[in-house]
Amino acid sequence: MDSKTRASLRRTALLDLQTRLLRAQAQQFTTSAVGLMGLPANVAASPKVTVYDCQNTTSIPGKAIEHPEKSKDGAVRATFDNTTGVASFFKDVFGRNSLDDAGMTLRSSVHYGEGYNNAFWNGSQMTYGDGDGEIFIELCKGSDVVAHELMHGVTQYTLQLVYENESGGLNESLSDVFGSMFRQWLNKETVDSADWLIGADILGTKAKSLGYDCLRNMADPESPKCLGRQISHYDQYRTGMDPHESSGVANLAFYKIAMALKGHSWDEAGQVWYNVVSTWGSSPNMTMQQFADATLHSAQALYPKKPAVAAAVHEGWDSVGLRPTVAYAGRKAMAS
Ligand SMILES: [Zn+2]
Repeated sequence: MDSKTRASLRRTALLDLQTRLLRAQAQQFTTSAVGLMGLPANVAASPKVTVYDCQNTTSIPGKAIEHPEKSKDGAVRATFDNTTGVASFFKDVFGRNSLDDAGMTLRSSVHYGEGYNNAFWNGSQMTYGDGDGEIFIELCKGSDVVAHELMHGVTQYTLQLVYENESGGLNESLSDVFGSMFRQWLNKETVDSADWLIGADILGTKAKSLGYDCLRNMADPESPKCLGRQISHYDQYRTGMDPHESSGVANLAFYKIAMALKGHSWDEAGQVWYNVVSTWGSSPNMTMQQFADATLHSAQALYPKKPAVAAAVHEGWDSVGLRPTVAYAGRKAMAS
């Protein structure tokens, strides 16, 4: 790694720490606000999407862009288009009105910092770096990356998973799962035609020349072609593990369940996941086992006449070391 790349990664790491602290504060604030008043009624038709330009500084939000939908700046346009797409995805597929389900404006800032190799949700808005051009290009150009970051906002308003240990891994995985589903929905892919890669569209030339093809691979979390390799079985989980690494367990479970159910990932597997997200309520320290149990419960509740869905959910989690423990009628038959 040359010094330019190293310096840009060091800046990225420092800024990430600040973002995590900010996000934790915002989550606490959301928790108390929701607890005090409840969420506002679901009123707006579609959320407003706004884009700001940091002009390569680290001050947020930056300068407001008047008509992002007509901008000649590729980052502004990609951010506007992908964010608008994610809002439609949540609305059309899950009936959700923006991140808070109450139509909140989706605000994003682009051109954050210099050569910043990351994107983040800070608890109230999205921010995208330009990438250093070597490891990453402009991060807003990855539809899955945009949906990943926005899903952190949905999690903040729903399960409120703390960003550490098992709940942190689940938080990260939910963002990958909904990020990948959004990219598949946008490209009209079935579970078989999808590549299940995260971040494949934002890799820079150097990363590609070194043989990397993605940030993470939901179908193969341990693949050496991933810039960020993950664990793929709960046996490998250790307390304190980075959420981006432990999330591989739940990513692989979702992939296996979607593959078993065929068709579109957002139709059954996605609905089961979203049902847990939207109905379980605040569960800051949820464990992976509890989440697995919750998905089985949702599969049975949503598809009482289609036991294949619950069976696929059961099998998928079992294969990553998290066999759901709630009463399950089909379990005995499958174990034999
Ligand atoms: Zn994330």
